[in-house]
Amino acid sequence: MVGNAHIVGLIRKMITKNKEQRSIMIHGETGLGKKHLAHYIAAAYLCEEHNGEPCGKCKSCLMAMHEAHPDIINVQANANGNYIIDESIRPIVSDSVVMPNESRYKVYIIPDLDRSVNTVTAVQNILLKLIEEPPEHVVVIMTARSKEIFLPTIISRTLSLAVTSVTEQECLEYLRGAFPDKTEQELALAVSAGRGNIGRCTAFVQGSGFADNAEKARALCDAVTSGDEYLLLRAMAGISSNKQNARAALELLSEICADASLFHVGQTDTTAFVSCYEQGARKLAEVISAQGGVQLYDILCEHINRIDANCNLALTLNSLAARLSQAVK
Ligand SMILES: [Zn+2]
Repeated sequence: MVGNAHIVGLIRKMITKNKEQRSIMIHGETGLGKKHLAHYIAAAYLCEEHNGEPCGKCKSCLMAMHEAHPDIINVQANANGNYIIDESIRPIVSDSVVMPNESRYKVYIIPDLDRSVNTVTAVQNILLKLIEEPPEHVVVIMTARSKEIFLPTIISRTLSLAVTSVTEQECLEYLRGAFPDKTEQELALAVSAGRGNIGRCTAFVQGSGFADNAEKARALCDAVTSGDEYLLLRAMAGISSNKQNARAALELLSEICADASLFHVGQTDTTAFVSCYEQGARKLAEVISAQGGVQLYDILCEHINRIDANCNLALTLNSLAARLSQAVK
């Protein structure tokens, strides 16, 4: 585990005092290691050494490391991220009464609950029974980008862990260890795009989707700043071929707009900025009003919602281009 030392300390304390919380939610933005933390907690709970952290050597830890532990159950959503109640959630409830195979606990990990837009409430209503009166051996760990999606009845019975980004220096050190063959310049580029978000920095170094989406978001930001609707339409055309990538690029653009509003009001604490394009956010801040950044952010969220609602992608992007260039004028 990199960063989030307070969470690691809390887990250790719970285990060594035999006060393991049996229902946990982990929330924080994409790439901050929520699933990694869920697996860390599961491994620490089941470790035979019982020292508060996974020893990495016992049979349980080895099985956990190879994702082959029979008592760590990763619940699967379908390709769109939705949990199908009868296929993946009800079976947890019926399986939960069966004793663990090897360990003290059986840990169910239910990731990305916020992506399950169609069934997020139904999933929680079914899990509620399990969370209210869990069998002695059951642990449930859920993850989501935001705590908002959880029902109050779940929140009141669940330990809530907020993962945060690490410092850019910690991130750089992690990348040096993980990618010894990369140059300092390559790693610095990754940190400037992903900042303290290890998942994003790693994706950038690996040249996977995030690097490409960040480049598109940067082009969109430059086009917005130019105030030229034609340029903006062209940049939108660059993301119009794939719904998921378009959504990801617009989310990154919304972060740049949020950073631009911070620059506009004179924020100087660099840890407050999250976007992949600090320089672009600074330039955008020069052409917007105090409310401008927030307005751009709202327009983007509105159009991201339309994409989620399966509206026609090309039309949604055209409407977005018109609204954004109007807002900058
Ligand atoms: Zn162990």
